[in-house]
Amino acid sequence: MRLLNFINGQWSEPAEGKYRHIVNPATGESLWDVPRSTREDLNRAVEAAKAAFASWRLVPGPKRGELLFQVGQLLLERKAELATKMTQEMGKVFMEAQGDVQEGIDMAFYMAGEGRRSFGQTTPSELPDKFAMTVRDPIGVAGIITPWNFPMAIPTWKIFPALVMGNTVVFKPASETPRLAYELVKILEEAGVPAGVVNLVFGSGTEVGEALIRHSDVALISFTGSNETGRHVAEVTGGELKRASLELGGKNAIIVMDDADLDLALDGIIWSAFGTTGQRCTACSRLIVQEGIYDALRNRLKERIGQLTLGSGLDEKTDVGPLINEQAVEKVRKYIQIGKDEGAHLETGGTVPQDPALAAGHFFLPTLFTDVSMEMRIAQEEIFGPVLSMIKVKSLQEAIEANNRVTYGLSSSLFTRDVNRAFKAIRDLATGLIYINAGTIGAEIHLPFGGSRGTGNGHRESGTAALDFFSEWKAIYVDYSGKLQRAQIDD
Ligand code: NAD
Repeated sequence: MRLLNFINGQWSEPAEGKYRHIVNPATGESLWDVPRSTREDLNRAVEAAKAAFASWRLVPGPKRGELLFQVGQLLLERKAELATKMTQEMGKVFMEAQGDVQEGIDMAFYMAGEGRRSFGQTTPSELPDKFAMTVRDPIGVAGIITPWNFPMAIPTWKIFPALVMGNTVVFKPASETPRLAYELVKILEEAGVPAGVVNLVFGSGTEVGEALIRHSDVALISFTGSNETGRHVAEVTGGELKRASLELGGKNAIIVMDDADLDLALDGIIWSAFGTTGQRCTACSRLIVQEGIYDALRNRLKERIGQLTLGSGLDEKTDVGPLINEQAVEKVRKYIQIGKDEGAHLETGGTVPQDPALAAGHFFLPTLFTDVSMEMRIAQEEIFGPVLSMIKVKSLQEAIEANNRVTYGLSSSLFTRDVNRAFKAIRDLATGLIYINAGTIGAEIHLPFGGSRGTGNGHRESGTAALDFFSEWKAIYVDYSGKLQRAQIDD
């Protein structure tokens, strides 16, 4: 099967007629072909989005919202089918793939409601017979660039608020996961999105992504991906004073105190560290443990890791799917060697599985390092695989300092039964997301999502915060006094 670009309401072949082949990372099974588009395709998409903006910005917000209700309904009806395709394409286990689609459904219904809200403010004026209010204005063409690890959720976090606020969209999904992007845009088409309002261009970051961030008719860029690419996007968009939201990497930690419920903590650790094979921006890759329970937790964790079943995400018995591709396996392997060279102790894992049934996939054994110190690279750098590093601390304060001593600031978690400790941690943990007595993953779409420090540039996705990125505030003053009144000058 061949996927196609969607430009100005038409499904179209890429200009040069070239395609890439996508294979299942768990089995090597051949899946579908995806366009290798060029700058020419991208330029056509931006032109269509620019033209469509003139009318889309004038469609009443509630009507734009109604379209998203339709989209949410269609996503809901096709949830299982979409999740199956996701698991085939990028490997996460079926239950998690369903969760990924569910985030899209939640976001559709939530943002659909914003079509009727999108509240501004009315406020008194400092002068008599004068009225003051604010409204949100759409901005223009939104360039949407997404990673492969949440192929449905992340595009919907960006596209739905962009649309409901009256912007038009050019969407460049990750090269590894085109199918869910294709299905999402098909659903938008089916729901009745007018021609040119949503455009989809498949292709590489260096060709299509680069052309998108540099295009002078693209007013804003919403990017999620690695720090390396994010920094480049920031440099290019900054140079052109283009609005850019950057959601980047993480090096998230779970802190476990001596007084924690260990069974609960173990469940949270396994889910956060090895769910999606560690390939979540919010995955737990550091386990900061108070010394009194360190040995007990290590032993029980090792046992639980040994019980995890690797395999295709479509197999009900599977706990941990494959990594996305061979480069990801190589990257994890490299970090295993770095950890060993730095003097960390490899408790379990650290290699690809020997099971011949898994030989065709990009699998890696869930891995636990102990005796890790904060200075080690495995405790500082994003590995993006099933590798967990255990760090011993004496106190809550030391744990919080350890948590905050990385360049990333996305998610953190604390297991304790002590409410005082919990609130001190909430005050002092320097991350955009904090969980108490839960793992580092599990964001809900009506709260702001994003990280502090090196995880981004201060914007937030989801919640009402997303509306701020995708709209411009306009302050309006109506003077009905019939005379010139000068603010700050007249009494
Ligand atoms: P990536 O940076 O390699 O790619 C992300 C996107 O950028 C892709 O669509 C890619 O094609 C595109 N791209 C590449 N070069 C480009 C260029 N020069 N110009 C414009 N676009 C370009 O990231 P990835 O490997 O797809 O995703 C994994 C990373 O994403 C991890 O670091 C992970 O932590 C991060 N991530 C962050 C969040 C978050 O919300 N903070 C969520 C999910 C993933």
